[in-house]
Amino acid sequence: MKSQMEWIELQNQTKLETRAFINGEYCQALDNATFETVNPATGKKLADIARCKQQDVDIAVSHARQAFQAGDWQNQSPASRKAILQRFADLITSHHDTLALLESLDTGKPIAHAYSTDIPGAAASLRWYAEALDKVYGEVAPTEKDVHAFISHQPIGVVAAIVPWNFPLWLACWKLGPALAAGNSVILKPSEKSSLTAIYLGQLANEAGFPAGVFQVITGLGHEAGEALARHYDVNCITFTGSTKVAGQLMVNSGETNLKRVWAEAGGKNANIVFANYSNLDQAAAEAAGGCFYNQGEVCVAATRLLVEESIKDEFIDKVVTAAQRFAPKDPLDPSCCMGTLIDNEHKQKVLDYVTLAQEEGATVICGGDVKGDAAFVAPVILDNVSNEMRVAQEEIFGPVLCVISFKDEEDAIRIANDSQYGLGAAVWTSDLSQAHRVAKQLEAGSVWVNNYNEGDMTVPFGGFKMSGNGRDKSLHAFDKFTETKTTWIRL
Ligand code: NAD
Repeated sequence: MKSQMEWIELQNQTKLETRAFINGEYCQALDNATFETVNPATGKKLADIARCKQQDVDIAVSHARQAFQAGDWQNQSPASRKAILQRFADLITSHHDTLALLESLDTGKPIAHAYSTDIPGAAASLRWYAEALDKVYGEVAPTEKDVHAFISHQPIGVVAAIVPWNFPLWLACWKLGPALAAGNSVILKPSEKSSLTAIYLGQLANEAGFPAGVFQVITGLGHEAGEALARHYDVNCITFTGSTKVAGQLMVNSGETNLKRVWAEAGGKNANIVFANYSNLDQAAAEAAGGCFYNQGEVCVAATRLLVEESIKDEFIDKVVTAAQRFAPKDPLDPSCCMGTLIDNEHKQKVLDYVTLAQEEGATVICGGDVKGDAAFVAPVILDNVSNEMRVAQEEIFGPVLCVISFKDEEDAIRIANDSQYGLGAAVWTSDLSQAHRVAKQLEAGSVWVNNYNEGDMTVPFGGFKMSGNGRDKSLHAFDKFTETKTTWIRL
């Protein structure tokens, strides 16, 4: 990987593309409006991005529809679609450095993480679905002998992918992979806080060979461009990752218009349960810190509620405090940085307000907090004496704040873990195999980790119970979101 000086040099050489990508071409918003995107590590403006609105969305949707109806993409042979999607993934890999740099500048995340995880993860997602697309079969139903019924899966049509700012390119590719592989036209709407890598994909899509209109990028604000997509009568499906609040709004928008499918990956307030019998508490503490503070805590499955058995609580907190030291905030372009800045100063203030609220509610700050200056840095915060009823234990903070809650026994741990409106992820650390099975089964979460936090792979579904969303990203299950199921009856 490059040195800090080399990253700065690359930044100086890189000309930022800031326009939307519609029908195979970069273009400004029709009214030429723009909005600023800021580097949270410096507080300085990076660029003015095209601010698309309803009229731009209408144009993009009509091109997406035309490409779909013409069969430009869905009717290509599977081998041909596979080759184009693989080329798209390869191009991400060959533009690895620039994409990692843009992601770090736009979000404040450590360049080392963007380089080692986000960008390779994005390419791997596309590649996985490229490889899968000609391995998914239909079914034949066990009907009476004089009829034949088969069940096939057809692309759903025009898909809008609305994504957040915490892993901008990576999460976008979790959606682009299966949606494109299934033969749809896809419009990507990145967060207004992190548009640069999505925009960059436009030129790569052309180079990969997608027909115009099959992949487009609409930049803009949530309540303008995002809502225009969500209310559009010719969009068949919204695939969303973001807050639970906006997920709900999208469902209302769909209900008030054309009942488009709405798939939402939303918030989390995840429990990480540590039993006293676990044989390697140092490892559990290191992963408790990593699970909560990775990506500045701006992770939907962050391990924000640490449930520790009463008898080992103080000893365990000491270990977590030690483990958290490697997350001391640094310049994100420093390759040794493990904790960058939050997405912006407004979000930083929200996170710090939660720390103040926690203290008012009776929690104790063990370490961390504000780092003064223009950059949106917050040092990892560990809160002791939290009870699960407190707002800091119930609401998603989406920053580097760990809430420590003690429990008496297994039943108590499960009760506390499930006492949440969310149900995205949960973990249990135990050396008792039967306990691992008992607890894992009862946890209300889409992913449960035993003796690890946040293992993941494209081969497994990811998503949540309860208000953490519906549907699942990743794995073959994701195809279900982007296809319609058709039954065809033939009388013999
Ligand atoms: P957000 O909900 O504010 O925004 C997400 C996207 O929705 C952005 O592109 C935004 O422009 C758009 N949007 C906002 N208002 C809209 C509206 N009225 N209509 C249509 N689109 C609108 O979320 P965020 O702050 O970008 O991201 C943080 C949230 O994302 C957290 O809650 C986090 O838990 C969640 N998240 C969930 C997962 C998961 O897989 N479950 C993964 C990552 C992040």
